Amino acid sequence: MTEVIDGEAVAADIRESLTECISTLKDEGVEPGLATVLMSDDPASETYVSMKQRDCEEVGIDGIHIEIDPEAPAEELYDTIDELNADSSINGILVQMPVPDQVDERRVLRRIDPVKDVDGFHPENVGRLVAGNDRYRPCTPHGIQKLLEACGTETEGADAVIVGRSNIVGKPLANLLFQKADDGNATVTVCHSRTENLGEKTRSADILVAAVGIPEIIDAEMVSDGTTVIDVGVNRVDAETEKGYELVGDVDYDAVEGIAGAITPVPGGVGPMTRAMLLYNTVKAAGLQHDVDVDLP
Ligand code: NAP
Repeated sequence: MTEVIDGEAVAADIRESLTECISTLKDEGVEPGLATVLMSDDPASETYVSMKQRDCEEVGIDGIHIEIDPEAPAEELYDTIDELNADSSINGILVQMPVPDQVDERRVLRRIDPVKDVDGFHPENVGRLVAGNDRYRPCTPHGIQKLLEACGTETEGADAVIVGRSNIVGKPLANLLFQKADDGNATVTVCHSRTENLGEKTRSADILVAAVGIPEIIDAEMVSDGTTVIDVGVNRVDAETEKGYELVGDVDYDAVEGIAGAITPVPGGVGPMTRAMLLYNTVKAAGLQHDVDVDLP
């Protein structure tokens, strides 16, 4: 029997624990604050940012939201980041990606004060993570670690195969899973578009993570009995629904359910965890910036 890993439920537990951490911070006079910055009129980006703001409200984080005209010069975004860096009421800064062409994404990531970099993408934070001394774990990989823990999948000694080597998912997850740590100690293989014999690699996995962005690229033939399958992909495919599309993952869920030991659904698996771990990083940031110990979940 395949266990369906309920990301919504795990995320709800994390949010509940975070509300306790936030009470501790407030008792010490600290009001945690997260700024989201949107320089885009892409409806998906608008939705992501509004969900993040809603999450903040739910747990008691002050959310402020700044919108910048996508046609504005890049300096407007850089200046906004400088202002947020200097604002002591803001503990975390999130610039919603992608940014328009006139903006240098790497410059944006470098510009954010690393102590307020709750996405964990500043080069200093990336370096710390690789060195095994992380400050903020990027939200999606950290959420995946929490899901593995929640479904009782041991990482120690496991063969973890990650399909996808992006800076936001594949690379940081690989680094986290092979760290010498209780939630690491896996043997990690990272696959990508030039990997040969992908199925051979994926079939060898005890833990298989798909972060590709191709609908249902992982089929039944590519998964071995009992594997824990984490599907990061969120793909829109045409469907006869009200919206004209539906969301599917990178894994052929119907085919793989029954083979996998455990599997995350799409939606309702990794997505809610990514959002919960942003709140986690914001709470951690507030604690670090005000020297208050918080008992993070
Ligand atoms: P990305 O930057 O687009 O990278 C995709 C990766 O897949 C690349 O490393 C690419 O290889 C690899 N790839 C492409 N075709 C392949 C193939 N045929 N075989 C094996 N590997 C292949 O991806 P991303 O930003 O990590 O996102 C991946 C998916 O996850 C997307 O659907 C995205 O929407 C979703 N996502 C979801 C969440 C969430 O919270 N649920 C968060 C982040 C992303 P190369 O490096 O060789 O090009």
